[in-house]
Amino acid sequence: MARDDITAEQLRDVLGYDPSTGVFTWKKPSGHRAAVGTRAGNPGGRDSWLIGLFGRKYHARRLAWLYVHGEWPAGNVVPRNGDGTDARIENLREETAGATARRGKIRSTNTSGLKGVSWNSEKGKWIASFTRNYRRIFLGVFDTPGEAAAAYDAAVSSDVPADVGTLMPRHPSETRRQRWARYETIQRAPHLVGWDSLDAFLAEMGEPPDADHVLMRVRHSAPIGPGNATWRLPWKREENGTVAAKRNYHLGRFGLSDGDYKRMLAAQNGACAICRRAERQSQKGTLKQLCVDHDHATDQPRDLLCTACNAMLGLVGDDPWLLRTAADYLERHRALQADPAPDNVVPLTKKDSA
Ligand SMILES: [Zn+2]
Repeated sequence: MARDDITAEQLRDVLGYDPSTGVFTWKKPSGHRAAVGTRAGNPGGRDSWLIGLFGRKYHARRLAWLYVHGEWPAGNVVPRNGDGTDARIENLREETAGATARRGKIRSTNTSGLKGVSWNSEKGKWIASFTRNYRRIFLGVFDTPGEAAAAYDAAVSSDVPADVGTLMPRHPSETRRQRWARYETIQRAPHLVGWDSLDAFLAEMGEPPDADHVLMRVRHSAPIGPGNATWRLPWKREENGTVAAKRNYHLGRFGLSDGDYKRMLAAQNGACAICRRAERQSQKGTLKQLCVDHDHATDQPRDLLCTACNAMLGLVGDDPWLLRTAADYLERHRALQADPAPDNVVPLTKKDSA
Protein backbone atom coordinates (compact mmCIF):
# COMPACT_ATOMS: atom_id res chain seq x y z
CA MET A 1 0.00 0.00 0.00
CA ALA A 2 1.05 3.54 -0.65
CA ARG A 3 3.17 5.47 1.78
CA ASP A 4 1.55 8.49 3.39
CA ASP A 5 3.26 11.02 1.19
CA ILE A 6 0.74 13.51 -0.18
CA THR A 7 -0.45 16.51 1.81
CA ALA A 8 -4.01 17.45 2.74
CA GLU A 9 -3.67 20.46 0.41
CA GLN A 10 -2.72 18.26 -2.55
CA LEU A 11 -5.62 15.95 -1.74
CA ARG A 12 -8.18 18.74 -1.41
CA ASP A 13 -6.91 20.24 -4.63
CA VAL A 14 -7.79 17.22 -6.76
CA LEU A 15 -10.63 15.57 -4.86
CA GLY A 16 -13.82 16.69 -3.19
CA TYR A 17 -15.03 14.75 -0.14
CA ASP A 18 -18.47 14.57 1.43
CA PRO A 19 -18.03 13.53 5.08
CA SER A 20 -21.71 12.55 5.40
CA THR A 21 -21.60 10.07 2.50
CA GLY A 22 -17.90 9.19 2.54
CA VAL A 23 -17.74 9.68 -1.22
CA PHE A 24 -14.75 11.28 -3.00
CA THR A 25 -15.34 13.05 -6.33
CA TRP A 26 -12.86 14.33 -8.88
CA LYS A 27 -12.37 18.10 -8.89
CA LYS A 28 -9.90 17.91 -11.71
CA PRO A 29 -9.77 15.48 -14.63
CA SER A 30 -7.66 12.48 -13.73
CA GLY A 31 -6.60 9.99 -16.38
CA HIS A 32 -8.74 8.98 -19.32
CA ARG A 33 -11.66 7.49 -17.38
CA ALA A 34 -12.34 9.79 -14.46
CA ALA A 35 -14.33 12.86 -15.48
CA VAL A 36 -14.74 15.87 -13.19
CA GLY A 37 -17.63 15.33 -10.77
CA THR A 38 -17.59 11.52 -10.93
CA ARG A 39 -16.92 9.30 -7.96
CA ALA A 40 -13.23 8.54 -7.43
CA GLY A 41 -11.84 5.10 -6.80
CA ASN A 42 -12.88 1.48 -7.02
CA PRO A 43 -13.59 -1.35 -4.60
CA GLY A 44 -10.31 -2.91 -3.50
CA GLY A 45 -11.23 -6.45 -2.61
CA ARG A 46 -13.95 -7.19 -0.07
CA ASP A 47 -13.09 -4.66 2.50
CA SER A 48 -11.78 -1.40 1.10
CA TRP A 49 -12.21 1.37 -1.40
CA LEU A 50 -9.04 2.36 -3.22
CA ILE A 51 -8.35 5.65 -4.96
CA GLY A 52 -5.47 6.11 -7.38
CA LEU A 53 -3.67 9.43 -6.92
CA PHE A 54 -0.38 10.57 -8.45
CA GLY A 55 0.44 7.06 -9.56
CA ARG A 56 -0.31 5.37 -6.26
CA LYS A 57 -3.29 3.76 -4.57
CA TYR A 58 -4.67 4.98 -1.29
CA HIS A 59 -7.36 3.67 1.04
CA ALA A 60 -10.40 5.98 0.96
CA ARG A 61 -10.60 5.69 4.77
CA ARG A 62 -7.09 7.06 5.21
CA LEU A 63 -7.71 9.82 2.66
CA ALA A 64 -10.90 10.80 4.49
CA TRP A 65 -8.92 11.09 7.71
CA LEU A 66 -6.31 13.27 6.01
CA TYR A 67 -9.01 15.37 4.33
CA VAL A 68 -10.84 16.14 7.56
CA HIS A 69 -8.02 16.25 10.12
CA GLY A 70 -5.35 17.73 7.87
CA GLU A 71 -2.80 15.03 8.72
CA TRP A 72 -2.30 11.32 8.19
CA PRO A 73 -3.48 8.96 10.94
CA ALA A 74 -0.70 7.56 13.12
CA GLY A 75 -2.23 4.09 13.31
CA ASN A 76 -4.81 2.28 11.21
CA VAL A 77 -8.20 3.78 10.32
CA VAL A 78 -10.91 1.20 10.94
CA PRO A 79 -14.65 1.32 10.20
CA ARG A 80 -16.90 1.36 13.25
CA ASN A 81 -19.64 -0.54 11.39
CA GLY A 82 -17.27 -3.13 9.96
CA ASP A 83 -17.77 -2.00 6.36
CA GLY A 84 -14.33 -1.05 5.07
CA THR A 85 -15.74 0.71 2.03
CA ASP A 86 -17.77 3.12 4.18
CA ALA A 87 -15.56 6.20 4.44
CA ARG A 88 -18.00 8.51 6.22
CA ILE A 89 -15.97 10.39 8.78
CA GLU A 90 -18.28 9.42 11.66
CA ASN A 91 -17.72 5.76 10.75
CA LEU A 92 -13.96 6.04 11.11
CA ARG A 93 -11.78 5.64 14.14
CA GLU A 94 -8.05 5.39 14.63
CA GLU A 95 -6.54 2.23 16.05
CA THR A 96 -3.00 1.07 16.84
CA ALA A 97 -1.41 -1.64 14.73
CA GLY A 98 -1.36 -3.97 17.75
CA ALA A 99 -5.08 -3.54 18.32
CA THR A 100 -5.78 -4.32 14.67
CA ALA A 101 -3.67 -7.47 14.91
CA ARG A 102 -5.65 -8.65 17.95
CA ARG A 103 -8.93 -8.20 16.10
CA GLY A 104 -7.67 -9.34 12.73
CA LYS A 105 -8.55 -12.36 10.69
CA ILE A 106 -6.51 -15.52 10.47
CA ARG A 107 -4.39 -15.74 7.37
CA SER A 108 -5.38 -18.26 4.75
CA THR A 109 -1.92 -19.87 4.98
CA ASN A 110 -2.21 -20.43 8.74
CA THR A 111 -1.38 -24.02 9.72
CA SER A 112 -2.87 -24.07 13.21
CA GLY A 113 -6.17 -22.24 12.95
CA LEU A 114 -4.89 -20.00 15.75
CA LYS A 115 -3.48 -16.56 15.21
CA GLY A 116 0.28 -16.33 15.56
CA VAL A 117 0.64 -20.09 16.02
CA SER A 118 2.28 -22.38 13.50
CA TRP A 119 3.36 -26.00 13.46
CA ASN A 120 7.06 -26.63 13.04
CA SER A 121 7.52 -30.10 11.63
CA GLU A 122 11.30 -29.94 12.10
CA LYS A 123 11.01 -29.39 15.84
CA GLY A 124 7.71 -31.27 16.16
CA LYS A 125 6.35 -28.40 18.21
CA TRP A 126 4.19 -25.30 18.02
CA ILE A 127 5.79 -21.94 17.42
CA ALA A 128 4.34 -18.60 18.44
CA SER A 129 5.34 -15.47 16.57
CA PHE A 130 3.95 -12.16 15.51
CA THR A 131 4.91 -9.39 13.15
CA ARG A 132 5.79 -5.90 14.20
CA ASN A 133 7.40 -3.24 12.01
CA TYR A 134 7.74 -5.74 9.17
CA ARG A 135 9.90 -8.09 11.26
CA ARG A 136 8.73 -11.43 12.53
CA ILE A 137 9.22 -11.69 16.28
CA PHE A 138 9.75 -15.19 17.62
CA LEU A 139 7.98 -15.87 20.94
CA GLY A 140 9.03 -19.39 21.65
CA VAL A 141 8.44 -23.10 21.04
CA PHE A 142 5.51 -24.83 22.77
CA ASP A 143 4.20 -28.36 23.22
CA THR A 144 0.55 -27.45 22.70
CA PRO A 145 -1.12 -24.94 20.40
CA GLY A 146 -2.96 -23.54 23.43
CA GLU A 147 0.28 -22.53 25.14
CA ALA A 148 1.56 -20.96 21.94
CA ALA A 149 -1.70 -19.06 21.49
CA ALA A 150 -1.46 -17.77 25.06
CA ALA A 151 2.07 -16.50 24.38
CA TYR A 152 0.83 -14.78 21.25
CA ASP A 153 -2.09 -13.16 23.08
CA ALA A 154 0.16 -11.94 25.87
CA ALA A 155 2.62 -10.39 23.40
CA VAL A 156 -0.02 -8.78 21.22
CA SER A 157 -1.99 -7.42 24.19
CA SER A 158 0.87 -5.01 24.70
CA ASP A 159 1.16 -2.23 22.17
CA VAL A 160 4.91 -1.98 22.72
CA PRO A 161 6.04 -5.61 22.68
CA ALA A 162 9.37 -4.76 21.05
CA ASP A 163 11.33 -6.62 23.72
CA VAL A 164 9.38 -9.84 23.87
CA GLY A 165 10.84 -12.70 21.93
CA THR A 166 13.59 -12.46 19.37
CA LEU A 167 13.74 -11.60 15.71
CA MET A 168 13.37 -14.63 13.50
CA PRO A 169 15.78 -15.05 10.61
CA ARG A 170 13.96 -14.35 7.37
CA HIS A 171 15.57 -17.34 5.77
CA PRO A 172 17.87 -20.11 7.07
CA SER A 173 20.65 -18.88 4.79
CA GLU A 174 20.59 -15.52 6.55
CA THR A 175 22.54 -17.16 9.35
CA ARG A 176 25.31 -17.89 6.87
CA ARG A 177 25.28 -14.45 5.34
CA GLN A 178 25.84 -12.45 8.52
CA ARG A 179 29.36 -11.01 8.41
CA TRP A 180 29.29 -8.83 11.46
CA ALA A 181 26.70 -7.81 14.02
CA ARG A 182 26.00 -5.20 16.63
CA TYR A 183 25.50 -6.33 20.19
CA GLU A 184 21.85 -5.22 20.15
CA THR A 185 21.24 -7.52 17.18
CA ILE A 186 23.01 -10.41 18.87
CA GLN A 187 21.00 -9.93 22.05
CA ARG A 188 17.81 -10.32 20.07
CA ALA A 189 18.98 -13.00 17.67
CA PRO A 190 22.17 -14.83 18.65
CA HIS A 191 21.45 -17.43 15.96
CA LEU A 192 22.24 -14.80 13.32
CA VAL A 193 25.89 -15.05 14.38
CA GLY A 194 25.83 -18.80 14.92
CA TRP A 195 25.04 -19.27 18.64
CA ASP A 196 22.00 -21.15 19.91
CA SER A 197 21.35 -18.83 22.81
CA LEU A 198 22.48 -15.52 24.24
CA ASP A 199 23.84 -17.30 27.32
CA ALA A 200 26.04 -19.51 25.16
CA PHE A 201 27.17 -16.47 23.24
CA LEU A 202 28.06 -14.48 26.37
CA ALA A 203 29.87 -17.47 27.86
CA GLU A 204 32.23 -17.52 24.88
CA MET A 205 32.44 -13.89 23.74
CA GLY A 206 31.40 -11.81 26.76
CA GLU A 207 29.96 -8.35 26.36
CA PRO A 208 31.60 -5.86 23.96
CA PRO A 209 34.30 -3.58 25.48
CA ASP A 210 32.12 -0.59 24.62
CA ALA A 211 29.03 0.28 22.64
CA ASP A 212 31.03 1.01 19.48
CA HIS A 213 32.42 -2.50 19.15
CA VAL A 214 30.80 -4.93 16.78
CA LEU A 215 31.25 -8.66 16.40
CA MET A 216 33.41 -9.54 13.40
CA ARG A 217 34.96 -12.61 11.89
CA VAL A 218 38.59 -13.51 12.58
CA ARG A 219 39.05 -15.67 9.50
CA HIS A 220 37.28 -14.20 6.50
CA SER A 221 37.20 -17.54 4.74
CA ALA A 222 34.64 -18.91 7.21
CA PRO A 223 31.29 -17.56 8.41
CA ILE A 224 31.05 -15.79 11.73
CA GLY A 225 30.27 -18.10 14.63
CA PRO A 226 31.73 -19.97 17.62
CA GLY A 227 35.52 -20.04 17.28
CA ASN A 228 35.49 -17.40 14.55
CA ALA A 229 34.39 -14.13 16.12
CA THR A 230 35.91 -11.19 17.93
CA TRP A 231 34.83 -7.77 19.20
CA ARG A 232 36.28 -5.01 17.05
CA LEU A 233 35.69 -1.40 16.17
CA PRO A 234 34.01 -1.07 12.81
CA TRP A 235 36.31 0.46 10.24
CA LYS A 236 34.13 3.35 9.21
CA ARG A 237 33.45 4.58 12.73
CA GLU A 238 37.15 5.20 13.45
CA GLU A 239 37.85 8.90 13.68
CA ASN A 240 41.13 8.61 11.77
CA GLY A 241 39.35 6.96 8.90
CA THR A 242 39.94 3.71 7.15
CA VAL A 243 43.70 3.31 7.63
CA ALA A 244 43.72 3.50 11.42
CA ALA A 245 40.58 1.43 11.66
CA LYS A 246 41.99 -1.27 9.41
CA ARG A 247 45.14 -1.27 11.49
CA ASN A 248 43.11 -1.65 14.68
CA TYR A 249 41.18 -4.44 13.07
CA HIS A 250 44.42 -6.40 12.72
CA LEU A 251 45.73 -5.29 16.11
CA GLY A 252 42.77 -6.96 17.73
CA ARG A 253 44.14 -10.34 16.66
CA PHE A 254 47.12 -9.91 18.95
CA GLY A 255 45.23 -8.35 21.84
CA LEU A 256 46.84 -4.97 21.15
CA SER A 257 45.14 -1.62 21.45
CA ASP A 258 45.65 1.47 19.35
CA GLY A 259 47.70 2.92 22.24
CA ASP A 260 49.97 -0.16 22.29
CA TYR A 261 50.61 0.29 18.59
CA LYS A 262 51.51 3.96 19.02
CA ARG A 263 53.91 3.12 21.84
CA MET A 264 55.60 0.45 19.69
CA LEU A 265 55.85 2.88 16.80
CA ALA A 266 57.44 5.55 19.04
CA ALA A 267 59.89 3.03 20.51
CA GLN A 268 61.04 2.14 16.97
CA ASN A 269 61.18 5.81 15.90
CA GLY A 270 58.54 5.04 13.31
CA ALA A 271 60.91 2.73 11.41
CA CYS A 272 60.84 -0.94 10.45
CA ALA A 273 62.64 -3.13 13.01
CA ILE A 274 64.62 -4.85 10.22
CA CYS A 275 65.44 -2.34 7.49
CA ARG A 276 65.17 0.71 9.82
CA ARG A 277 63.21 2.57 7.19
CA ALA A 278 59.68 3.97 7.19
CA GLU A 279 56.92 2.21 5.30
CA ARG A 280 57.20 2.77 1.56
CA GLN A 281 54.26 0.93 0.06
CA SER A 282 50.89 2.55 -0.35
CA GLN A 283 47.44 1.24 -1.04
CA LYS A 284 44.79 3.21 -2.92
CA GLY A 285 46.92 6.33 -2.63
CA THR A 286 47.42 6.05 1.14
CA LEU A 287 50.74 5.08 2.69
CA LYS A 288 50.40 1.78 4.53
CA GLN A 289 51.14 1.46 8.22
CA LEU A 290 53.95 -0.67 9.60
CA CYS A 291 52.63 -4.17 10.23
CA VAL A 292 52.62 -5.93 13.56
CA ASP A 293 54.84 -8.88 12.80
CA HIS A 294 53.94 -12.02 14.70
CA ASP A 295 55.26 -15.46 15.40
CA HIS A 296 53.16 -17.83 13.34
CA ALA A 297 53.77 -20.71 15.72
CA THR A 298 52.70 -18.93 18.92
CA ASP A 299 50.70 -16.03 17.43
CA GLN A 300 52.65 -13.67 19.72
CA PRO A 301 53.30 -10.18 18.34
CA ARG A 302 56.93 -9.24 17.70
CA ASP A 303 57.93 -5.79 16.40
CA LEU A 304 56.63 -3.49 13.69
CA LEU A 305 57.90 -4.21 10.21
CA CYS A 306 57.47 -2.58 6.84
CA THR A 307 55.44 -4.47 4.26
CA ALA A 308 58.55 -5.59 2.34
CA CYS A 309 60.39 -6.96 5.37
CA ASN A 310 57.25 -8.60 6.67
CA ALA A 311 56.74 -10.28 3.29
CA MET A 312 60.39 -11.35 3.28
CA LEU A 313 59.98 -13.18 6.60
CA GLY A 314 56.87 -14.80 5.24
CA LEU A 315 58.67 -15.99 2.10
CA VAL A 316 61.48 -17.64 4.07
CA GLY A 317 59.04 -19.10 6.59
CA ASP A 318 60.69 -17.29 9.53
CA ASP A 319 63.81 -19.44 9.05
CA PRO A 320 66.93 -17.65 10.42
CA TRP A 321 69.29 -20.17 8.79
CA LEU A 322 67.78 -19.40 5.38
CA LEU A 323 68.30 -15.67 5.90
CA ARG A 324 71.92 -16.15 7.00
CA THR A 325 72.78 -18.42 4.12
CA ALA A 326 71.07 -15.99 1.76
CA ALA A 327 73.21 -13.20 3.22
CA ASP A 328 76.34 -15.35 2.82
CA TYR A 329 75.32 -16.10 -0.75
CA LEU A 330 74.96 -12.43 -1.63
CA GLU A 331 78.26 -11.56 0.03
CA ARG A 332 80.09 -14.48 -1.62
CA HIS A 333 79.01 -13.31 -5.05
CA ARG A 334 79.86 -9.68 -4.33
CA ALA A 335 83.27 -10.78 -3.09
CA LEU A 336 83.81 -12.97 -6.14
CA GLN A 337 82.97 -10.11 -8.46
CA ALA A 338 85.36 -7.80 -6.60
CA ASP A 339 88.21 -10.34 -6.39
CA PRO A 340 87.77 -13.74 -8.08
CA ALA A 341 90.48 -15.36 -5.86
CA PRO A 342 89.40 -18.63 -4.18
CA ASP A 343 90.41 -17.64 -0.61
CA ASN A 344 87.86 -14.83 -0.60
CA VAL A 345 84.98 -17.29 -0.84
CA VAL A 346 82.90 -17.40 2.34
CA PRO A 347 82.29 -21.03 3.35
CA LEU A 348 78.66 -22.24 3.33
CA THR A 349 77.08 -22.32 6.78
CA LYS A 350 75.57 -25.62 7.90
CA LYS A 351 72.02 -25.58 9.13
CA ASP A 352 72.10 -26.48 12.81
CA SER A 353 69.28 -28.56 14.12
CA ALA A 354 68.62 -26.32 17.15
ZN1 LIG B 1 61.63 -3.12 6.58
